[in-house]
Amino acid sequence: MRRLSIVTSALLFAAAGAGPRAQTAPTRATGAAAVTHERLAQADREPGAWMTTGGTYHEQHYSPLDQINETTVGKLGLAWSADIDTERGQEATPVVVDGVLYLSTAWSMVKAYDVKTGTLLWEYDPAVAKSKAADACCDVVNRGVAVWNGKVYVGALDGRLIALNGRTGAVAWSVQTTDPTQPYTITGAPRIIKGKVVIGNGGAEYRGRGYVTAYDAETGQQAWRWYTVPGDPSKPYEQPELARAARTWRGDLYWKIGGGGTVWDGMVYDPELDTLYIGTGNGTPWNQGLRSPGGGDNLYLSSIVALNPNTGTYKWHYQTTPGESWDYTATQPMIIADLPYPRGKRRVVMQAPKNGFFYVLDARTGRLLSAEKYSPLSWATHVDMRTGRPAEVDEARYEITQRPVIVAPGALGMHNWHPMAFHPKTGLVYIPVAVNNAPYSTPKDFKVNETGFNTGVNFAGGAELYDRPGAPKRGNIESYILAYNPVTGKEAFRINNEVYGASGVLATGANLIFSGNHKGEFTAYRASNGEKLWSTNVQARVVAGASSFLVDGQQHIALLAGARGLPDNQPRTNPSSANNSRLLVFKLGGTATLPATMPANARLTSRTKIDPPLSTASNETVFAGQQAYEAHCARCHGPEAVPGAGSIGPDLRYSGLLPFASAALGGAWNATVREGDRAQRGMPGFGRTLPAETTDAILHYIIKRANDEKALQSQGNR
Ligand code: CA
Repeated sequence: MRRLSIVTSALLFAAAGAGPRAQTAPTRATGAAAVTHERLAQADREPGAWMTTGGTYHEQHYSPLDQINETTVGKLGLAWSADIDTERGQEATPVVVDGVLYLSTAWSMVKAYDVKTGTLLWEYDPAVAKSKAADACCDVVNRGVAVWNGKVYVGALDGRLIALNGRTGAVAWSVQTTDPTQPYTITGAPRIIKGKVVIGNGGAEYRGRGYVTAYDAETGQQAWRWYTVPGDPSKPYEQPELARAARTWRGDLYWKIGGGGTVWDGMVYDPELDTLYIGTGNGTPWNQGLRSPGGGDNLYLSSIVALNPNTGTYKWHYQTTPGESWDYTATQPMIIADLPYPRGKRRVVMQAPKNGFFYVLDARTGRLLSAEKYSPLSWATHVDMRTGRPAEVDEARYEITQRPVIVAPGALGMHNWHPMAFHPKTGLVYIPVAVNNAPYSTPKDFKVNETGFNTGVNFAGGAELYDRPGAPKRGNIESYILAYNPVTGKEAFRINNEVYGASGVLATGANLIFSGNHKGEFTAYRASNGEKLWSTNVQARVVAGASSFLVDGQQHIALLAGARGLPDNQPRTNPSSANNSRLLVFKLGGTATLPATMPANARLTSRTKIDPPLSTASNETVFAGQQAYEAHCARCHGPEAVPGAGSIGPDLRYSGLLPFASAALGGAWNATVREGDRAQRGMPGFGRTLPAETTDAILHYIIKRANDEKALQSQGNR
C-alpha cells in the first residue's frame, strides 16, 4: 500500500504540476473564481482544486490526492486557522480554486481567504434580518458557495440568490428567489450548470410549496422553474407532469398551505448524461391524514427527480417514501458514480435519505438497482424490488390507526444533510448515520399555524409508550460512520461516535477518510477498515465536511468547525464566536496552534446558577403551557425545556427573565416573548400569534421545569 501510494502520489503530483488546467498554472482561465464548464466537467483531472462543495460534479466528496496517506498522516498539523464571527451552526464545505478558499458561514455570510497564508481577502454579509431565524427550521446555516466565471454565488437565508465579484466580494447581482412574505429560507449551496445557477429552498414545515429555479449566471435572469408538487387546481399546471402528480393528492388543504416538497439541499449534475438530479422534501403538514385525507402517493414528495438542466423539463423520478407522514425527506446529498457490478460498470446516482434505506438508481433511466436498509428503521420491512415500493409496517401509519406509535427514524432521519463520501478505490460509501426515533400521533385539533411549524403531529401523544416493557430507548440512540458497499448492499464496518451526532465525511486517495465529531475532534481513519490513524482537537463540535486541494503543490485539508454548543469541558477560545467557530487548514508538518483560552479582555458568557421563582401555577396551567411550549418553543429551546444537540436557543430554565417574571408578568418576559425585543438576536415575538394566556402558561411551565432542575441539583443528582 505504501509503495502504491508513493507511486500514485508522484503521478498525481506530476499531473497537477504540469497539466494544462493545473491549479498553479491555469491556461484558459485566469483571475478569481475563474471556473468554466470545461474545468467543472473535468474537475477530476484537476485534483489541486476543490471546485464545488461536493468536490466535483459527481459530489463524491473524494479527493484523489495522496501525499497525506497512511504513512504520513501522523505528521498532519495545522497550517493556519481563521476565527469565524458567527456562532450558529457552520455547515459549509470550503471551495478552493486557484489559490483562493471561498466559504459561507451561518447567516449566509461569505468569506474569501488566500489559502496559502490565511489572509482574509474579502468578506460579504448579506445582512439577513435576524428575525428571519424564526422561519428556519434548523438554524440559520448555509452549506456553501458555488464559483463560476469570476463570480461567487450564495443563497441567503431570506431567499435571495446573490452573485459576488470573485475578486472583491462586491455584489454583481441579487435576485429574490422566493415570495418574501412567505416563510421560505435558503440554506443549501447553489449548483452551476453551463452558465445557469440552480437553487432551491426550504420551508416545508411552514407553508412552503417546493420548487427549484435556474438563473442566468451572468445576469440573474430566471431561465426556468420546476415545481415539486401541484398548486391551486383552479389554475393551469406549470408543468405537464403536475397533472399526473395532482391525481396522487386528495382534498384541498395541501395546495392552500403549500404541500411541501422543498428542495433544500441535495442536487447533483451528471455532465456525461447532461442530467440534473434534485432531492425533494417532506409534505406540509407531515401528517398525511391531514395533508391528503384518504392517502395517495403525493408526488413528487420525498423523491429523486431527474431534470433536463437546460430547460427544467422532467425526465424521471423515483419516490423513496410514497405518501410520507414522518418528515422523511429525500433532500439528502446524492453521489454520481460508476459502480463495478459483476456484469460491468454502471452509472448510478446514490442517496441515503432520512428514511433509512440506501438507494442506488440507474442514472440514465431511474431504474432501482438496490434499496437496502443502512440503519435500524422501523416504518417498513424492506423495499419490493419489483415495484420499487416500500413494504410498510401498518402500525407506523399513526394517521390511519389513530394510535400513537414510536417510529424509527424520527424527523431528523437516519442520515441528514451531512456530506457522505464515496471512495472509488475501496468502493465504499461512508455515511454519517444518527440512529433515532420519535413518537408520532395525530393531534386532537389541527389548525394551520400561520407563523410556525405545521407538522400535524402531536409529539407528546405517544411519549408514554417509552415506559412500556420492550420499548426502544428514547430519541437519540447512537451515531456512527457506516462504511457501506453499494454494490452488495452490505455494511463493511462502522466507526462509532463517542458523543452522539453526525459530521460530514471526506475521502482521499491514499486509503483515508476524514471526519470531525461532536467531541471536538477531527480524525483520519483508514478507509479500508476504519482504523483511527490521526486525530486533533479542534475545540468545537464539527458537523460540516472537509475538502482537500493543493497549495504550491502540497496537499492541504480545510475544515469549517462549529456547531450548536461546545464540546464538554471545552472553554471558549474565540472572542467572536461562542461555539469556537473556526476555519482550520491542515498540511503535513503544519505547526500552527489554537489558543488554549480566551484572550484576557474578552467577555465570557456562561451558564448562571439556576434560580427560578417558586412554581405557583395550577397543574392545568402547567399542562397547557407544556403543550404550547412543545408546539412553539421546543424546536429552538429543546423538548421539555432542555436544549439538546439540535437546539439553537438558550436553556430557558436559566433565563434571566424568570426571577422577575412572577413579580411582573407582562414585564421583561412579555417584552421578549410577546413584543419581540430580541427579534434581532433571533427570538421572534409571539404577541400576534399567541394569546397572553398561552404565553403566560408557557412561562409557568418553564418555571416548573426550572424548579424541577433546581430540585435535582440540590439533591446532588446533577
Ligand atoms: Ca422537514
